[in-house]
Amino acid sequence: MIRCDALICGGGPSGSTLATRLVRQGLSVVVLDKAKFPRDKVCAGWVTPQVVAAVGLDLADYGRTRTLQPIERFATGLIGSRPIETAYRATVSYGILRREFDDYLLRRSGATLRLGEPLDSLTATADGWLANGAIEARLVVGAGGHFCPVARQIGAALGKSETVVAAQEVEFEIPPDVACAVAPEAPELYFCPDLAGYAWVFRKGRYLNVGLGREDSHRLQEHVQSFCEFLRQSGKLPAQVPGRFKGHAYLLYPHATRPVVAERALLIGDAAGLAYAQSGEGIRPAVESAILAASTVAAAGSDYSLERLLPYAAALAARFGKRAERAPVSAPSRLRTAIGRWCLSNRWFARHVVIDRWFLHAQEPALGT
Ligand SMILES: Cc1cc2nc3c(=O)[nH]c(=O)nc-3n(C[C@H](O)[C@H](O)[C@H](O)COP(=O)(O)OP(=O)(O)OC[C@H]3O[C@@H](n4cnc5c(N)ncnc54)[C@H](O)[C@@H]3O)c2cc1C
Repeated sequence: MIRCDALICGGGPSGSTLATRLVRQGLSVVVLDKAKFPRDKVCAGWVTPQVVAAVGLDLADYGRTRTLQPIERFATGLIGSRPIETAYRATVSYGILRREFDDYLLRRSGATLRLGEPLDSLTATADGWLANGAIEARLVVGAGGHFCPVARQIGAALGKSETVVAAQEVEFEIPPDVACAVAPEAPELYFCPDLAGYAWVFRKGRYLNVGLGREDSHRLQEHVQSFCEFLRQSGKLPAQVPGRFKGHAYLLYPHATRPVVAERALLIGDAAGLAYAQSGEGIRPAVESAILAASTVAAAGSDYSLERLLPYAAALAARFGKRAERAPVSAPSRLRTAIGRWCLSNRWFARHVVIDRWFLHAQEPALGT
């Protein structure tokens, strides 16, 4: 039997950030992940400087042996149309490979790692939890992504009444003999004609990442195919993609209704449904939720009762706003679509709204630095 203060289910960016902070606070921490690291995660792998600051990433050390693609420009538009370019005079984001990034953060956390071990059972005990019949913990944290078993345990109706973003992505190494017309420092973002989602093509050194996500998952495959055709016609995607698209679902913050706190339990990251509404960016909210959770745990002393953990829910609301109570609009009205399309063709809107506000969240400084 292993005993610990905190058991974290999931070693992605949320889990590793919380593990790092709790270890620093002097707690004994076990991270359980069903995958053996390094592992892939369906993701474009775009991180903002606020993420770099919040996790204290040493860019020089990280980039020495790993892919770290500085981003200085963006192309934005509608699928099928010529994009608008927005250039900056500095590095405004980075491209990373999730199998490298997540592994790096997790291994430096100082927690006891149990990798390749899923959370199969979780039972409440008199003063905490018993996990997999072998780990006793006083606090359990769900950081296991959208389908986190801890979320289910504390009452989330996974996949039932939830409105999710459905996304597909492929990432592959560009074969040495293949020319690629995508500039590495300039990710390209293309909105679907009905504005219910967007697609991207993003080059990170020798790797190309292509994907599309929509709030309305009907005919997702068709949208992906038509985007790929568009890319092929502009010489940005080889005729044969050396890999296959993988799908994943996740919740946008305004539409998530999961409880985030329970007696001796917390949810962070995608398990809590925190991704930004406009961009779908989830790494920053994942990391920031972990920072807020660590502060709540520190303030709780060693009392992890619901009452002492509730400030975490309040901290999330203070940071990310009140969750919207209405259902999302899945089919935009014609007028809304027409206005949206006009806005996307406007250079000012592309820079100051689409990129600066929606994608870079430049108006919000990093948390916890
Ligand atoms: C197609 C796509 C593209 C995206 N692109 C971006 C992007 O470019 N930038 C960005 O910021 N966000 C992006 N996101 C969102 C981002 O990937 C997530 O928000 C982020 O990974 C959340 O981190 P997390 O730590 O909460 O969960 P995850 O990164 O999902 O980590 C969860 C971990 O839990 C483990 N786990 C799951 N179940 C169990 C279990 N039963 N037992 C033990 N372990 C378990 C998993 O193996 C995994 O390692 C994208 C998402 C998708 C789907």
